[in-house]
Amino acid sequence: MLRANDLKSTDHIGEKVTVRGWVYRLRKQKENTFVIVRDERGGIIQSVFPTNNISPNLTIESSVEVTGILNKDARAPEGGYEIRGTNLRVFNISDANYPIGEFQSVDLLLDNRHLTLRARKMIAVAKIRASVLKFARNWFITNDWMEITAPIIVKGAVEGGSTLFKVKYFNNDYAYLSQSAQLYLEAMVFSLGPVWSLTPSFRAETSRTVRHLSEFTHLEAEAPWVDLEDILKVQEQLVSYIVENVIIERQDDFALLKSDISVLKNTRPPFERISYEKAIDFLRSKDFTVVDGNGVNRKIELGDDLNIDSERELSKKHSRPLFVVGYPIAIKPFYVKEDPQNEGYGLTADMLAPNGFGEITSGGMREDNNLSITKKMEKEGLDIKSYQWYLDLRKYGSVPHGGFGLGIERLMRWITKIEDIKDTILFPRTMSRVSP
Ligand code: ATP
Ligand code: MG
Repeated sequence: MLRANDLKSTDHIGEKVTVRGWVYRLRKQKENTFVIVRDERGGIIQSVFPTNNISPNLTIESSVEVTGILNKDARAPEGGYEIRGTNLRVFNISDANYPIGEFQSVDLLLDNRHLTLRARKMIAVAKIRASVLKFARNWFITNDWMEITAPIIVKGAVEGGSTLFKVKYFNNDYAYLSQSAQLYLEAMVFSLGPVWSLTPSFRAETSRTVRHLSEFTHLEAEAPWVDLEDILKVQEQLVSYIVENVIIERQDDFALLKSDISVLKNTRPPFERISYEKAIDFLRSKDFTVVDGNGVNRKIELGDDLNIDSERELSKKHSRPLFVVGYPIAIKPFYVKEDPQNEGYGLTADMLAPNGFGEITSGGMREDNNLSITKKMEKEGLDIKSYQWYLDLRKYGSVPHGGFGLGIERLMRWITKIEDIKDTILFPRTMSRVSP
């Protein structure tokens, strides 16, 4: 069976062709009825039938199979090809009250996400996303990293207790939904070397922002015997490879989204590295302010974390991603390794997407001294019992190791320039939405 786009060349002109899909537009005239079909991959082709051969019940979104002779007709939309229909087979007449129209509220569209996903823009996003995942996996396969699958039901927090989803477990026990596969990836470097995983991570994010979901697609990687620079190189190569290939493979989908890919062509290593301290200096030079713990607005200073606004300021003039290197240990989780050359600061880096899009990856070297780890765990109020296995990794033959985590939806936001992260995932989960 051919798809609509297969017909958009002179190869099939004059031939009898058949296309399956859904009625995308229906234009009834006295003599002729135009049935525009959207195929299973979002391609569009016009067909035309004598009006008295068409069931008067035919509606938008009815599923159909159109057979006829392919013609070139400049008036036909999207390429100027048209099927002179001889047979219209109907699989299902769609209810006439299809809820998705042109001017609907954001909430109605989200309530009907299972139908909204048929919209051509949503199809384009879904295809770009599939290509991102494909090329990410390609990169790891080509570079000999082993894919692993970490558990989702876990006992320990990775990114702090406030964003944990607690679930009931058997016999009055409890567990959490995983915030990150990192600890399990760390365990696997001892037997598989460089490893990576692609799993959902769960964070009970209470702040509603355009870049936080409560379930996101987390690509994570970890390798033994590396240093921070090695980890940054992996990230810049991986991200460049994904972007370079996706914009070629999905050129038409970017065009449909009216998303300009010319700047993305700059995504080539090396990415600029700027130290955390320099980043703060820069923000202070712009009189950048933050709201402190007491709700008071004050100038940003050393020790402050970077937030959406400061990351936007740092990356808005850049046309390719940049790394902010060496965050203070105090604002990073227990597993971050301190920089022996720079007390109080970690061997860590976040990658910020350019043009103001902000953090898309976080990574660095992992602390391998159990005493430092347990001290930090205590400070963070973590239950050390749940982490005994993790501490064992340092007890039995530890090696310098490190890695990173990349949010697929964050990367999608940047490359598609879709402001709201909800529109980069098929069925978004947020504080106010778990359905459909
Ligand atoms: P942020 O500071 O932006 O809230 P984070 O530092 O808490 O993120 P990490 O724990 O470093 O996030 O997670 C690694 C990566 O996972 C991030 O760089 C980001 O790309 C992605 N990520 C983290 N939290 C979310 C979320 N709630 N929704 C979507 N992606 C996320
Ligand atoms: Mg981070």
